[in-house]
Amino acid sequence: MKIVLGSSNEHKVREINDIVKGSGIEFILPPSGFNPIEDGNTFEENSFIKAHAAWELARTWSLADDSGLCVDALGGNPGIHSARYAETPQKRIERVLSEMKGIKNRQAHFSCCMTLINPQGEVEFSYTGKCEGSITDSPRGTNGFGYDPIFLVKGSDKTMAELNEEEKNQISHRSVALRKVLEYLTTEVRSAGNE
Ligand code: IMP
Repeated sequence: MKIVLGSSNEHKVREINDIVKGSGIEFILPPSGFNPIEDGNTFEENSFIKAHAAWELARTWSLADDSGLCVDALGGNPGIHSARYAETPQKRIERVLSEMKGIKNRQAHFSCCMTLINPQGEVEFSYTGKCEGSITDSPRGTNGFGYDPIFLVKGSDKTMAELNEEEKNQISHRSVALRKVLEYLTTEVRSAGNE
């Protein structure tokens, strides 16, 4: 079963296909022209906007995710602004660290909402996966991307950037959401012959 992924990020397609390997489901990039305006106010709204934009182009099963880092002491910021919190990944990390200077409550989580749209263009399933942790005082580790170097994984002494790809895929917000989508697809869709 092929599903169009509402993303122009090839790295994301690879990461998601790695997580679902062996399931018989394959994610593919949308046809050219995919360029939605992500102007929603929540992860849910933005994942719907992207999934629906992919469906508009492909008119088949479409999935999109929207994710970000939510820091309790910053009122949930950077949240849906995660990708644009500053100009570069380095500057985004610096901004969070400077906003967190002197703050004791360092609790944070990554969120990832996935929305699945069926060939009729209706929302078939939506789920938000979370990964709990806290913000470090300084960056550590070189793996992953985005805010990984300043995110200390709950119950571990490692930041997300100190985990290898396989370890991150076990616990990440994206993999939690994706596994739920997969569970839905295999139990509700494929068993009903609605692929
Ligand atoms: P999007 O869901 O592709 O729009 O990504 C939103 C932004 O959230 C990314 O550009 C990163 O800054 C941040 N983000 C999302 N997932 C992760 C993650 O797994 N690690 C680190 N940063 C992330």
